[in-house]
Amino acid sequence: MIDTHCHLNDEKYENVDEIVNNYLSAGVDKVVCASSSFSASIKAGEIAAKYPSVYYTVGIHPDEVDEFDIDRLESLVKKASNKLVAIGEIGLDYFHNKENKSEQIHAFISQIELANKYKLPIVIHCREAYGDTLDVLKQHPPKYGAVMHCYSGSLEYARQIIALGYKLSFTGNVTFKNAKNIKEVAQNIPEDSFFLETDSPYLTPEPNRGKRNEPKNVFFVAAVIADLRGISKNKLSEITDKNAIEFYKFK
Ligand SMILES: [Zn+2]
Repeated sequence: MIDTHCHLNDEKYENVDEIVNNYLSAGVDKVVCASSSFSASIKAGEIAAKYPSVYYTVGIHPDEVDEFDIDRLESLVKKASNKLVAIGEIGLDYFHNKENKSEQIHAFISQIELANKYKLPIVIHCREAYGDTLDVLKQHPPKYGAVMHCYSGSLEYARQIIALGYKLSFTGNVTFKNAKNIKEVAQNIPEDSFFLETDSPYLTPEPNRGKRNEPKNVFFVAAVIADLRGISKNKLSEITDKNAIEFYKFK
């Protein structure tokens, strides 16, 4: 089982050894440690160097756009190991800040171009910015894949993303009782269009909601989606792992 998006580099994890042991013994054999800032990107690279099961991304999240510096980011990509699997998380967040839309869009586009230059896929963070995100993707297409992480949009929007050849990934929020829309998406999109993640330490799935999240909880996400699609958990994780491997091309 693969957790395609977690933040082992988050300061909420004081003991990364323990978190890694927890997921390995639960049956998660690979995780992607996603980054949102320069310090997180550097830390993700260090964690990936230490643990064979950890792959990583580098990127500047829209909330951190004030520190955006494409040359500095490119220097991280240049000296990255072969465990760097994507640029992310990048994108647009108008929930936290809509005063700096043009800076966010500029940083998003520059990072798509960087990903294309280094033949990497991108991991997209999108919050209350669906229209502009789609416009950017159409005008500056990522050439090596893109995933809308923590997908929380409509089924119609999901179909537009999938039609462009891009993927979705689902977190613990699909397990929440009030998550009718996300459940509808997870139930109805094609088998080859999505994979699973935790976004831990955030978005803890039911039945552990309220506690700190960990990659080992990706099984709760799998169970709910398997149920929605009427297949076994094993079959579901076989499908989603295959999709994740094709997308991230783990070395
Ligand atoms: Zn994340």
